[in-house]
Amino acid sequence: FYQPTDKQAILQGRRNHFGGNLSLTYDEPVMLVRGWKHHLFDEWGRPYLDAYNNVPHVGHAHPRIQAVAADQLKRMNSNTRYLHPAQTAFADKVLSKLPDHLEVCFFVNSGTEANELALRLARAHTGAKGIVTPDHGYHGNTNAAVAISAYKFNKPGGIGQADWVELVEVADDYRGSFKRNDPDRAEKFANLVDPAIAALQAKGHGVAGFIAETFPSVGGQIIPPTGYLPAVYEKIRAAGGVCVADEVQTGLGRLGEYYFGFERQGALPDIVVLGKPIGNGHPMGVLVTTKEIARSFDNGIEFFSTFGGSTLSCRIGKEVLDIVDDEGLQDNACIMGARLMDGLRQIEADFGCVGDVRGMGLFLGVELINPDGSEGSEICKYVKNRMRDHRILIGSEGPKDNILKIRPPLTIESEDVDMILWALRDVLSEVGDYAPAPACDHDHHHSGCGCC
Ligand code: PMP
Repeated sequence: FYQPTDKQAILQGRRNHFGGNLSLTYDEPVMLVRGWKHHLFDEWGRPYLDAYNNVPHVGHAHPRIQAVAADQLKRMNSNTRYLHPAQTAFADKVLSKLPDHLEVCFFVNSGTEANELALRLARAHTGAKGIVTPDHGYHGNTNAAVAISAYKFNKPGGIGQADWVELVEVADDYRGSFKRNDPDRAEKFANLVDPAIAALQAKGHGVAGFIAETFPSVGGQIIPPTGYLPAVYEKIRAAGGVCVADEVQTGLGRLGEYYFGFERQGALPDIVVLGKPIGNGHPMGVLVTTKEIARSFDNGIEFFSTFGGSTLSCRIGKEVLDIVDDEGLQDNACIMGARLMDGLRQIEADFGCVGDVRGMGLFLGVELINPDGSEGSEICKYVKNRMRDHRILIGSEGPKDNILKIRPPLTIESEDVDMILWALRDVLSEVGDYAPAPACDHDHHHSGCGCC
């Protein structure tokens, strides 16, 4: 239904009829027409390694997802106003992965919607309006989701900061105020929440809650120091607020050792938000919360989403989670993540322009720096585009867009990992070999502690 030569026409059609802020990745855009596991194929059938997209969690075009979707579409597809075993089966599966106090599921259509709903629940439960959230976060594309997404509202042309939102510095112990060589950094980052709470109270908004990506992704693939979230949650709860964990990017086994990011932090959220990977490409979002919070929201007004929790969505969602278990994908994330991390650490040691590598499982970041230690945004852009020439798709993140983001489907295998490492080494050698950073007394070479 298409010809390879159509690419330019498609690009032009897009320019003619789509908004200019619908962005395209790469200087030379890629057209992708087929997928299989963690591989994608362009209009000429050329393969690309998908080392970026977390939506095809169990792999592109998974036969079990195809089968379950086709089967349900042949039968019927309806909404939550009627009973169907797929609804409770999906809820049971989701809840089996979560701590016992989280007992109630809401099914919606996207991560954005789930975060919107989280705001409504937090406000219904607390009677307060104010939200504390880390800087550079992203929670979605609607009015309220943008209002809690500094990544969007704080950009030139953004809507600016709402007075019911207080930002705290993101707990980045590479570049932030407190570095890895400071044993008290988790507590120090957490303490930044105190003035935010006080400001919301002074403005009369009170504290409805705290929302954060468990490991901030658009902020730069950051792994907050252990103990950060429990300390923040304690402060938020003491101020009457609820704690929301946005696990859209970190959840469902991606981290290898942990099914959810909050487990790593030893934190117990009141609301967990799931999105993208849970439908493996079918648009879905899920919010999970406690009975008490769900009761506060059950105030006489019906909650309904036409497509949220549809029979089709419930069948697909359950199938995705079953596949993660049946194919041992969480373990695979652990093994492949460790292999990637080992190779990246060697690359970090060999190339001065790599300031830091960090991550867990298949959620990884490579921070590129200029010779003076500042954010290597241009280098990052170059590397991302050159990796595309090697037919490896990776992303970039961070306030200065200088952190390479590696976040493949969980099906990735050793040869793919080795290819990423080989290509990255090759591309970095083109960047110009900056002199390695001088030795310092601290534990971490290139720790960003100011002396490296
Ligand atoms: N939260 C996080 C952490 C996300 O990364 C995203 C999407 N990138 C969203 C929420 C919004 O999800 P969606 O685009 O499905 O609405």
